[in-house]
Amino acid sequence: MNKIPEKIQIREDGSISVPDVPIIPYIEGDGIGPDIWRATRAVLDAVVKKAYGGKREVLWKEVLAGDKAYQQTGERLPSETLEALKEHVVAIKGPLTTPVGKGIRSLNVTLRRGLDLYACVRPVRYFKGSPSPVKRPEDMDMVIFRENTEDVYAGIEWPEGSKEAIRLIEFIKNEMGQDIRPDSGIGIKPISRFCTQRLVRKAICYAIDTGRPSVTLVHKGNIMKYTEGAFKDWGYELARAEFPDQTITEQELWEDYNGVQPEGKVVIKDRIADAMFQQVLLRPREYSVLALPNLNGDYISDACAAQIGGLGMAPGANIGDGFAIFEATHGTAPKYTGLDKVNPSSLILSGAMMLEYLGWKEAAREVFSALEAAIAKKRVTYDLARQIEGATEVKCSEFAASIIDSL
Ligand code: NAP
Repeated sequence: MNKIPEKIQIREDGSISVPDVPIIPYIEGDGIGPDIWRATRAVLDAVVKKAYGGKREVLWKEVLAGDKAYQQTGERLPSETLEALKEHVVAIKGPLTTPVGKGIRSLNVTLRRGLDLYACVRPVRYFKGSPSPVKRPEDMDMVIFRENTEDVYAGIEWPEGSKEAIRLIEFIKNEMGQDIRPDSGIGIKPISRFCTQRLVRKAICYAIDTGRPSVTLVHKGNIMKYTEGAFKDWGYELARAEFPDQTITEQELWEDYNGVQPEGKVVIKDRIADAMFQQVLLRPREYSVLALPNLNGDYISDACAAQIGGLGMAPGANIGDGFAIFEATHGTAPKYTGLDKVNPSSLILSGAMMLEYLGWKEAAREVFSALEAAIAKKRVTYDLARQIEGATEVKCSEFAASIIDSL
């Protein structure tokens, strides 16, 4: 094969154009990052080769961030890194340390803001043989779309006793007639129509493109009416305005279709967040795509991941308009740095999500079946080995080799 590597491009309609040999930047990550990235890269290269026999290939391009960047450049996130990520559209990254301390912004947050990656997307599905605390983990098959830029997570907050907090408390008392205890810290919870609707649009488009039956708007609008409640209302409004032929509400499903889902329609539902935590445990089969504001989305992603083998098995991506960075949902697990010990599945599955995003669906499917076959051999990393009866613990690199052998 003698193909020229090219950059992925964003078309005018926001979709991406992917060459046969795309250049894809990667950030190795801190802590366990190098171990899981090495394993992931080996698996992704092997599946692409198997699926396309050399017709397609990824040209990996390292970009620096985190500890490695700091050692080499004195900066944790050099501006060239952000530029390279913009230029190449799609990237994959290992976890990055957030140094603890005042005034230090998380590199992950900076990357998400820099590329306006407003949707955190986390598919949660069960791989046969993985340990699970529930009786029927195979019923869990959801894709979570969590808003990534707003809510109490926006970082607009002031500590107790600060002049800003005191000023706000006085303003709210004098101008709005509401009492807040003077010894309070204050955080602001903005949720806008614009950010809600672009997130819900992405979730509905995903459901339509992948043939998923429903999108559920999860919110706490019974209490927080003008933020969470508005999230729900704006979600329905968008579905009605932009997808009138492809969506119906749950109410219409019962009133007009007697509860039988018509072909080609996505049902838009809504659920109160606390009830939803029960639903994902008791009736997971009734849910498919979820769209949530930032905070609840964070909580529910981990609660769902716990049912299918934990964080080590949970992939994720941060996606904007064309731009996307794929990453494991867990952190740098610093105590395991350099031990070649941890489970690489989360990053490998994030890589599979990336292949799907490129439209390389055959290669993504290869990842899923090979991973399942490797787990079935019961030669797994420590986190799975301690929960699977009769399993033998293997290293991170050995587990990756076993996945490749299973192709
Ligand atoms: P963490 O790195 O996710 O690790 C917590 C625990 O989860 C580990 O001790 C380990 O549990 C388990 N775990 C994580 N990854 C695993 C894997 N691949 N295989 C098996 N088990 C795994 O969380 P943390 O210790 O709270 O955070 C450490 C650093 O990571 C912090 O600096 C944080 O800011 C950063 N972080 C970065 C990202 C990101 O880059 N996206 C995300 C989250 C956190 P056991 O101890 O039970 O073995």
